[in-house]
Amino acid sequence: MADTIFGKIIAGQVPCHKVYEDERILAFLDINPLTDGHTLVVSKEPAETLDRLSDESAAALGRVLPRLCRAVMAVTGVTEYNVLENNGTRAHQAVPHVHFHIIPKPNNSEGLGVVWPARTLDHKAAAELAKRIREAASA
Ligand code: AMP
Repeated sequence: MADTIFGKIIAGQVPCHKVYEDERILAFLDINPLTDGHTLVVSKEPAETLDRLSDESAAALGRVLPRLCRAVMAVTGVTEYNVLENNGTRAHQAVPHVHFHIIPKPNNSEGLGVVWPARTLDHKAAAELAKRIREAASA
């Protein structure tokens, strides 16, 4: 479990500013926050990316995320926020251990900035793509 910095934090070998803990989840403040209250919600299971996570840990994350969002927003007084989860270095994942960021967005200049290079959907190709993903998801 101690193969990444988050594994070391979970194992108690590195300190953190803990905000929540249960059997499957540890949440603590990000050491380089984008805004006050920037919180990391980490699965104790040391999966590198979300697609490799067990259903049990995924359910635990899903159960606790809204509650932690409410807590962070209540304490910071911010009402808008982003929840971010990166997978792989090209997708900006620095620590290969599943974690969600809760990032308050207090104004236009602070918090998460997103580049969103949207394209137009090709509906013919999309029908085939959706079918293939449906089949993969139910396999
Ligand atoms: P990501 O790019 O999604 O992998 O995000 C990793 C995050 O972990 C970054 O926002 C870092 O600031 C944060 N981080 C790295 N080391 C620590 C640490 N020891 N305590 C708290 N946050 C950390």
